[in-house]
Amino acid sequence: MNYYTKGMNSMDTPKGILIVFSGFSGSGKGTVMKELINRYANQYALSISATTRAPREGEENGREYFFKTREEFEKMIEKNELIEYALYVENYYDTPKAYVDEQLAAGKDVILEIEIQGALKIKEMFPETLLMFVTPPDAQTLKERLVGRGTETAEVIEARLSRAFEESQGMEAYDYLIVNDTLDACVEQVHSIISNEHAKMSRNQEFINRIRDELKGFSKGE
Ligand code: ADP
Ligand code: 5GP
Repeated sequence: MNYYTKGMNSMDTPKGILIVFSGFSGSGKGTVMKELINRYANQYALSISATTRAPREGEENGREYFFKTREEFEKMIEKNELIEYALYVENYYDTPKAYVDEQLAAGKDVILEIEIQGALKIKEMFPETLLMFVTPPDAQTLKERLVGRGTETAEVIEARLSRAFEESQGMEAYDYLIVNDTLDACVEQVHSIISNEHAKMSRNQEFINRIRDELKGFSKGE
């Protein structure tokens, strides 16, 4: 619950906002998301994607990702269990449908941490989606973070940095630019943008209808 939905009457049933969080590999989006969920566990639900890439050290099946073989992945596509999927540096990534629907209906803001092709598909399907793009303050910091993470080979790091340049061509399609310099400030900025988003008129038609209806009782019909 954020400050705005708290102020609502219990008759209003605010639905969660669908949020896409994208950014160059190594920009820190995973770190920011983890911290956001830590701090505001009641407000957010982070969708867990499926991928064909191998787990990194410390990653657990069902926590960071559902790790799948190509065959399993293709079955999910056939059965229409996915909202979207994309190929990123030789591996498939996708967003399973059921969890997202469930959490939105429960009033949670659902965050998809996905790359740009998936983000654009989601925006097309659900135009009210809030799109955020995270970057480090500069390109050198990106390289240092990616290398410093120590989870990819030099070859994969190079492919991801080259992909970052391609992704930078699509940044204008996003609603907000999030510069991840200091982690704490970045997390609070993301939380504050999402909280303000809840106050948008276009997201509050139920509230408007209700108060309008209540006020009707005061109207002298002039
Ligand atoms: P992504 O999910 O975007 O690929 P990660 O969250 O894995 O990126 O972050 C990449 C590396 O940068 C990690 O080692 C992480 O600890 C570090 N990192 C993330 N945010 C910051 C920050 N604000 N300042 C310094 N290092 C950071
Ligand atoms: P990584 O291998 O670093 O975990 O993720 C690589 C890229 O795939 C990141 O940009 C990440 O946001 C993106 N990604 C993760 N899950 C999904 C997904 O379900 N769909 C799409 N389109 N991209 C995803």
